[in-house]
Amino acid sequence: TGIVHTAPAFGQEDYEMAQRYDLPVVQLVDPQGNFTQEVTPWAGMFVKEADPLIIEDLENRGLLFRSETYKHDYPFCWRCDTPLLYYARSSWFIRTTAFKDRMMEMNDQVNWYPEHIKQGRFGDWLKNNVDWAISRERYWGTPLNIWNCQECGKQVCIGSIAELKELGEDLPEEIELHRPYIDRVILRCPECGGQMRRVPEVVDCWFDSGCAHTAQWHYPFENKERTERTVPADFISEAIDQTRGWFYSLLVTSTFLYNRPAYRNVLCLELVLGADGQKMSKSRGNAVDPWEVLDVQGADAVRWYFYTVTPPWVRRIFSKEAVNEALRKFLGTLHNVYAFFVLYANVDKINPLLHDIPVSDRPLIDRWIISKFNSLVAKVREDMDDFQITSAARSIDRFVDDLSNWYVRRSRDRFWGSEMGHDKFCAYRTLYEVLVDLSKLLAPFTPFISEEIYQNLVRSIDADAPESVHLCDYPESRSELIDRELEEDMELVREFVVLGRAARNRAGIKVRQPLRRIVLGLASDRERGSVERFPDLIREELNIKEIEFATDLADYARITVRPNFRLLGPKYGATVQKIARTLAQSDPVLIKREIDSQGEVKLRIDGEEITLERGELDLRFEGNEGYAVEVEGEHFVALWTEIDEELALEGIARELVNKIQQMRKEADFNVADRIELYLSSTEQVHKGFDRHRSYVMGETLAVKLVEEPSEDMLLKSWNINGHPAKIGVKRVEGYRPN
Ligand SMILES: [Zn+2]
Ligand SMILES: [Zn+2]
Repeated sequence: TGIVHTAPAFGQEDYEMAQRYDLPVVQLVDPQGNFTQEVTPWAGMFVKEADPLIIEDLENRGLLFRSETYKHDYPFCWRCDTPLLYYARSSWFIRTTAFKDRMMEMNDQVNWYPEHIKQGRFGDWLKNNVDWAISRERYWGTPLNIWNCQECGKQVCIGSIAELKELGEDLPEEIELHRPYIDRVILRCPECGGQMRRVPEVVDCWFDSGCAHTAQWHYPFENKERTERTVPADFISEAIDQTRGWFYSLLVTSTFLYNRPAYRNVLCLELVLGADGQKMSKSRGNAVDPWEVLDVQGADAVRWYFYTVTPPWVRRIFSKEAVNEALRKFLGTLHNVYAFFVLYANVDKINPLLHDIPVSDRPLIDRWIISKFNSLVAKVREDMDDFQITSAARSIDRFVDDLSNWYVRRSRDRFWGSEMGHDKFCAYRTLYEVLVDLSKLLAPFTPFISEEIYQNLVRSIDADAPESVHLCDYPESRSELIDRELEEDMELVREFVVLGRAARNRAGIKVRQPLRRIVLGLASDRERGSVERFPDLIREELNIKEIEFATDLADYARITVRPNFRLLGPKYGATVQKIARTLAQSDPVLIKREIDSQGEVKLRIDGEEITLERGELDLRFEGNEGYAVEVEGEHFVALWTEIDEELALEGIARELVNKIQQMRKEADFNVADRIELYLSSTEQVHKGFDRHRSYVMGETLAVKLVEEPSEDMLLKSWNINGHPAKIGVKRVEGYRPN
């Protein structure tokens, strides 16, 4: 028809078009939602009630083309579901568009986490800035501080109570600045002497929070220096939707008040999702009751999960199971190490503070964990300075794993050994220092377990120490205690241990069965020196009598190189067969060497050069007769797997110790309880026991071997390396070591 209906007083787009084409804004509805007097047939009627009457009127006059139901989005009151009317109202604005360029300059000085929000979501928001509608027609809120003269129309913006008193008449000493009291304050117009009244509006609450940097110090009335010092703030952390909320309102006010950004760093928090990866909602059933998790798994576990799973600005899934994982893997491990220390320190009645042994006088493994800890402190501080919480927490996670699965694991016997001496004092002192400093390092991450460790390990023996771990200084990295070479050497040792365990698995021989020797395949001569710093660690961890060194894998294994057909088939088609033939004719040792050093190998096929990467080759190693071989890059181990009579007997003794220890646990004996032992088995098992009698008895704290089981003994049947055996244990009451 060429005609478009428009109602500039009832919708934003219509209003903007009216502005652009200079159309009149006709307001036919009063603030109650009733038609005004100009709408003669329905004047005073609520607009929604008039709808059917208008249709009827059009129909009567033959003007109705069609009447139908039309579905479209419409605003409703979120509380009572009443349909709302869009309504153009006069409003107060802050002309933020006048500060747009300066706000963008301020934003340039801010670090955003994640980085892309800076010029993306937030930068776009600033670029498309519109003036800030600051007034609200509500009752509750900060009253807008503008007074109008009833006579001459002058407007005054009041900036302080003093100014209010200066212009006001007969104001009480104490002025209540909120409604309704403030509305009774009448000022005298400085121009004409007429009466001035406050405008009825209150202020957008985002303006209040947007003034936090200033309002918190009651500036400009006091704390000038403090405000100067704290604008910009070091960091702000809120959910990502605050780009249009608090992040924005703070930046606006700091820009026009101070020409500074309001903050140096912004940490945006992303959504937490249900276990199914969807937004949590009760109706979907994927919501987690936070109190349930806090009550059962605890706040430390919840916190640790959030720190380690993803950076805060990446969406993450939250479920009880996920928190359980953090509880078990990290807090469980930490607690085990702590409980281990407490248990043995109590048995030995030791006060680690009395044994201040210089670190340089302690065994290598102590120096290693101390070096690792100081490296960790440096890393955590660096990460925290850069707001990389996840990286910091994951580093601590790895350290606790090192502490438990290497330091304590390899030092267990040092605590267990009954002889009080230098080595034992070093072990206690080292683990004590690490646990105490770790509690301080962890305090901001897991405040509760940190406090528990600190209170028990520090406060219980040092009344002068700070009252809480949270009042201690954060640990400083002591670079003089960091020994990179030692850390690297230990890394190599642990790599060989991993290979050695894998070789045992391959051969199907458990670690408790001692073996004669292992060959460590080195990449360089220098590595031999590294490994030889800790010969006992490898021998004990892998339960092997001798270590030998080698560099040539071909002396211990047959190497075969074939194409990885799954990858190369699609890439080279029929040429794969030629690649396979060429590889078969090549020296596999040379190919492996090239792969190790270059990461790839070049072949000539039909005069053309083909480059194959490590993953595109299928390298296999078959140990020579008697050897189990494992290879990782340039390193390998070859494990001699023959079990001679002597090794078999020792294996039996180890197996007996293991089973007796299990029974001690099952019977709930204390670690220092002495026991009576009963053993009935084959001749071979008794032979193994007799050969290693003092070892078995010593390890299990057995003080007596009895011929017949007593009635109150815990008795169990076992399989000892293929031999049936009956073992009995019983606590010896009132035992006193002589
Ligand atoms: Zn309502
Ligand atoms: Zn006036």
